[in-house]
Amino acid sequence: MSRKLNFSAGPCAIPLEVLEEIQANITDFQDNGISLVEVSHRHKLYDDVHNAAIALMKELLNVPDNYSILFLGGGATLAFSMIPMNFLLDGKTADYVNSGAWAKKAIDDAKKVGDVNIVYDGKENGYSSLPAASSVTASKDSAYFHFTSNETIGGIQWKDWPEVGDVPVICDMSSDIMSREIDVEKFAMIYGGVQKNLGPAGAAFMIIRNDLLERSPDSLTAYLNYRIHAEKTALYNTPPVFTIWGVKLFLEWVKRNGGVAEMSRLADKKSKLIYDVFDSGDGFYRSPVDSSFRSTMNLVFRLPSEELEAKFVKEASAEGMMFLKGHKSVGGCRASLYNGVPVSYVETLVSFMKDFSSKNG
Ligand code: PMP
Repeated sequence: MSRKLNFSAGPCAIPLEVLEEIQANITDFQDNGISLVEVSHRHKLYDDVHNAAIALMKELLNVPDNYSILFLGGGATLAFSMIPMNFLLDGKTADYVNSGAWAKKAIDDAKKVGDVNIVYDGKENGYSSLPAASSVTASKDSAYFHFTSNETIGGIQWKDWPEVGDVPVICDMSSDIMSREIDVEKFAMIYGGVQKNLGPAGAAFMIIRNDLLERSPDSLTAYLNYRIHAEKTALYNTPPVFTIWGVKLFLEWVKRNGGVAEMSRLADKKSKLIYDVFDSGDGFYRSPVDSSFRSTMNLVFRLPSEELEAKFVKEASAEGMMFLKGHKSVGGCRASLYNGVPVSYVETLVSFMKDFSSKNG
């Protein structure tokens, strides 16, 4: 079988070894004569997988003991709607950075729950840039400060973290978790969908400092209450067992391949291969984002015309390079280079890009 070169923004490339491990165990899990997806989530077979996935997150990201790690259904979308329900209380205001499409969705949901203060709005520059991390401040007595580390659609990424004193910092790291080293202690909560850098779609992860969980009000229905999920180690109800198994296998692969430090080195290397084409070329490929904040994960770019963009996507796809079309809201092209994308895919894409520009420039 010749596999496609997958540049999708998510769900996205999963290392072949991980898929093969799933394949080898899907009908007979570790020689137990039964599939993992057929047993109770209270069974030891699943319990070991669940606990291993959590332990690997803790180990790989160096998560301190005073944080809870959860994997829950509903994606990052449910997570960002639950954040204000759990933590924006007592008539307080929460600070949000509006950096693009995903930040905006989190803001719109938070506004339905409480007061939101926008500390930075990228609307004026078309969400092509971010503020200097040192320039953003939280408002006095803020419930929390929320931002999105990497805008998957816009292709911009924070390079330094905002420092906002004692205000709890909450970050959506859906599209760059596990691709860069982070100091978890700088955050009160980190969350995101797993379907980009951690495994197959079907769950979101949350890393939440335990003191924040004390805020979750009893008035919330059980599933919406983060404290209840943390008390039950994310086993309050039936978890997405297949997805969490995939996450465990993916994290084992990350560990075998040098951990977050190596993922980060590779993310820099892969993205530089493509950014060098933009920077050293004749302007055929153009990045619409501020070069100080361009993403190592989602590389958005424009060609001289929309016709050429459509031709580029079509011809790349004919050569097995899939999903290079930009998000419909911004147009253009986008190559997503998550952890599951090998350097060789990027080298193939770069040589295609050079060939395409010389033929069509
Ligand atoms: N935040 C970011 C940064 C994302 O990229 C996405 C999905 N692309 C989401 C949130 C929403 O994630 P989900 O589809 O898992 O709800």
